[in-house]
Amino acid sequence: MSTTKRPMMEEMMNGRWPSFVHEFEKNATIEGKEEISNVMLDVLEESYEIKKPLWKHGGIVGVRGYGGGVVGRYSLKPEKYPIVTEFHTMRINQPSGFFYTSDDIRTLSDIWEKHGSGMTNMHGATGDVVFLGTTTEELQPAFNDLSEHGWDLGGSGSDLRTPSCCVGPGRCEDACIDTLDFTNNVTHHYQMELHRPMWPYKSKIKVSGCPNDCVSATARSDIAVIGTWRDDIQIDQKEVAAYADAGLPIKAIISRCPTKCISFDEDKKELTVDNENCTRCMHCINAMPKALHIGKDKGCSILLGGKATIVQSAFIGWVVVPFMKLDKENDYENFKEFVESVWDWWDEHAKTRERLGELIYRLGMNSMLKAIDLKPMPQMVRFPRENPYIYWSEEDLNDESEVAE
Ligand code: SF4
Ligand code: SF4
Repeated sequence: MSTTKRPMMEEMMNGRWPSFVHEFEKNATIEGKEEISNVMLDVLEESYEIKKPLWKHGGIVGVRGYGGGVVGRYSLKPEKYPIVTEFHTMRINQPSGFFYTSDDIRTLSDIWEKHGSGMTNMHGATGDVVFLGTTTEELQPAFNDLSEHGWDLGGSGSDLRTPSCCVGPGRCEDACIDTLDFTNNVTHHYQMELHRPMWPYKSKIKVSGCPNDCVSATARSDIAVIGTWRDDIQIDQKEVAAYADAGLPIKAIISRCPTKCISFDEDKKELTVDNENCTRCMHCINAMPKALHIGKDKGCSILLGGKATIVQSAFIGWVVVPFMKLDKENDYENFKEFVESVWDWWDEHAKTRERLGELIYRLGMNSMLKAIDLKPMPQMVRFPRENPYIYWSEEDLNDESEVAE
């Protein structure tokens, strides 16, 4: 282990949370990885000191036949840190819902120890497994090994980024769609779009099984697919009574319904939902999971235009399709037809590095709706909240009124 003093890296090991510095130090104990791990910590220490990254991104590096999947990265100080002169990142298409076997993890780790730094990021913001740091020379051999074991690269650059989803029905009984099957299907169907950058900029598809939106699809993806239902919430009144008898603060829970469409009869210990006015926010179902369940007529809502800050500020997605069935039986054709018409419009009109949300903002929702042949609907609100980040006031944080755990 290096004896170099790195006060900032040491600081990052304090506290209750896992620290990537610990992981770098563990990586340094692997035969052949000591130098690169320590140099990476030195680079980071200097970078934190001068408050600037010591990498330059870009450059055309990749593997045969693919335009995306590798992010070129070079050191700004190759004389000082020669071992990381080339430190490219490879993005590996993750399994839907991040389900791995132990063998999968071992295979990926072995491949990366052989061809790269051994350090990974599980997972990057897009969802991929991120292999951190290798040379141009090792890219193709690493890719060949990955392919031999059934793995593929994900997206990068101006292409379809690797679609990602929540665990959905893998764990959640109230998942409204099969996020795992849908994401797997869409990923295989759009291989050309995923591997060959052909658009003005990136396009992301993220899929959440219900409106809890655990992958933050509405805030992080151009095309957010969110499971929902269009009939009535199912109520088990016996379980409602059991919750009341057990002292659950049902009145406090229902007071948080955003549309005030749920009521509780304390004498009868019964809940009633005015389903016409329910926005399917999931709050009451989350709080009383034994008593309340999603409806039976399930499908998804599609929101367009979410993104983090870059050219324009952060956008949360617009609801463009309030309800669509996602049918396995017809190979999800309804979704594919829709998304391709949206991509066609965006591809034709967007400037370089203009995301879908920015184009809708510039040309107007009407322009897109006409192009994709959709009629305006009341659900297509422009500003439910224009920024996906919530800032809590001091007063909110100190609010000790009854809230169900
Ligand atoms: Fe489960 Fe819904 Fe979260 Fe998906 S979004 S993991 S279905 S709670
Ligand atoms: Fe109200 Fe949300 Fe429950 Fe619908 S799902 S009844 S909007 S709390």
